[in-house]
Amino acid sequence: MEIAPGVHLISTAMVNLYVVETTDGPMLVDTGMSRDTPRLTTRLRAMGFDPSRLCAIFLTHGDMDHVGGAAAFRRASGAPTLAHAADLDFIAGRVQRPAGTGPVAAIFGPLAQPIMRTRWIKAPPVGVDRFVVDGETVADGWRVVHLPGHTPGLVGLYHPLRRVLLAGDAVSNLGRLRLPPTFMTMDTPAAKASVHKMAALDFEALGIGHGAPVTRAASAAVKTFAATL
Ligand SMILES: [Zn+2]
Repeated sequence: MEIAPGVHLISTAMVNLYVVETTDGPMLVDTGMSRDTPRLTTRLRAMGFDPSRLCAIFLTHGDMDHVGGAAAFRRASGAPTLAHAADLDFIAGRVQRPAGTGPVAAIFGPLAQPIMRTRWIKAPPVGVDRFVVDGETVADGWRVVHLPGHTPGLVGLYHPLRRVLLAGDAVSNLGRLRLPPTFMTMDTPAAKASVHKMAALDFEALGIGHGAPVTRAASAAVKTFAATL
């Protein structure tokens, strides 16, 4: 499904990723869980994209459901990985990503840590070839928007002319727009500020990691949601 012309959604059981057509070739935005790579490779081919011809692998943040396939897709394509430096330690596997805040994180955080390290779930570590910063343009007018909170290095991609925002896990759309779950959000006040930052942009379509993308009047929906925070 295209959420906007040239911006393709791929949904997996865990997470959404996106393929953005650029003049240099397809740019992959997030990479799914590592176990999804063979299936995603088949899906990409079926959609007419050659996984060995990716021009870039943009990682919205360092969580395993977004980074899991990055090492394999990078190997297959030679495409550079792009990410924000603040999530480098998680992406490169140097530091395990801390749980969020609140009672659920306090109870389940320590229990979840060994599970997160299992081969089935853990993202193979991958290097970051290019660090991106807020406001820079990465490809064909796609502008990086730093949306910290869920993780410190969460970055979205915004195209002002195409009026599309790919926001990673800055919000989810499970029944309605929501903040990412507190138990997986490292800094909730920052996450709220990031929603306000999104609300100041103008876009028709919003692609996110979890839940249905919003394909019409998305910035109005985000403004309404931001007003509740
Ligand atoms: Zn996620």
